[in-house]
Amino acid sequence: MKFSFLKWLSSDIAIDLGTANTLIYVRGEGIVVNEPSIVARSTINNKIIAVGDDAKEMMGRTHPNIEVVRPMKDGVIANFEMTDAMLQGFIKKINISRFARPRIVICVPSGITEVEKRAVKESGERANARVIYLIEEPVAAAVGIGIDISKPVGNMIVDIGGGTTEIAIIALNGVVTKESLRIAGDEMNEAIIQYFRKEHNLLIGERMAEQIKLNIGSATKVEDKTMSVKGRNFVVGIPRTIDVSSEQIRECLRETVDVMISGIKRTLENTPPELSSDILDRGIILTGGGALLKGLDERIRLETELPVHVAEEPLLSVAMGTGKVLEDVEKYREILM
Ligand code: ADP
Ligand code: MG
Repeated sequence: MKFSFLKWLSSDIAIDLGTANTLIYVRGEGIVVNEPSIVARSTINNKIIAVGDDAKEMMGRTHPNIEVVRPMKDGVIANFEMTDAMLQGFIKKINISRFARPRIVICVPSGITEVEKRAVKESGERANARVIYLIEEPVAAAVGIGIDISKPVGNMIVDIGGGTTEIAIIALNGVVTKESLRIAGDEMNEAIIQYFRKEHNLLIGERMAEQIKLNIGSATKVEDKTMSVKGRNFVVGIPRTIDVSSEQIRECLRETVDVMISGIKRTLENTPPELSSDILDRGIILTGGGALLKGLDERIRLETELPVHVAEEPLLSVAMGTGKVLEDVEKYREILM
């Protein structure tokens, strides 16, 4: 790579700190890191062993001297220390100069508390940031999707991530109504794990559960598929394979999907009438990895009788939006927290 003095000095970065995936956007370059929000640490000396993809490989396969955690899984920031370690690990990956004082824009879930906000900021400061801006997830998603949020027109964004579902109505550079649900993709995986436990005495891991959801999961009847699932039967204690149908998995996911739909309906009920009429015209926009669940858009369309659109690249919207803000902080100053 060509040595660039300018890059060496500035390297401003935007971070989508997601409960499932962390993405880093470097100014002028685009997205350079896109890895799971996972960290592996030695329990002997507390040293970080791996972050992201490498840590995911270790999940469920460790010995007592290594712990692998998803520090944001059970809440916005369930584990401050590990979230910080993870963020430092990711920033190290992009190799910015030790002398650089970057500007950092960090996108955080909108349900974040003041204490959590402060922790994220401090984490950025430890990464030598010159200045740190925070931006709310649905706002960043809207910018990433390419919506002009400065207009007096309402847009409804539903961002379904791993740990949280963020539902927001945005207009004039601000959030008019919002709801942050602590149920999303992880909850679906958990429902699948419980199903195999209860119905088949089979223990399966989180990664297997996610694979099942991605392969044959859906929110409405879209196709009939089956999948062979490997796990450990806890009655006889040995590995077993069970065939499962898309219909059975749809049943597992029903409850989570219903909670999301209730949240969407509640937000619609709390929306001022002028904005409601905008949403009637423009529809609901789904983003975040959960938006990729088959048939989810269809199901929401049926329940709300509104147009529903899935963002073009749901897993990238927030990072792209946070990146756009980083490229022109002045223009977006109003939406920064
Ligand atoms: P976060 O912003 O919380 O990090 P993401 O937007 O990265 O979350 O989305 C991650 C979630 O999306 C995970 O729960 C993952 O299982 C889910 N997901 C990703 N792809 C799909 C898919 N094709 N179908 C259903 N869920 C998906
Ligand atoms: Mg996200």
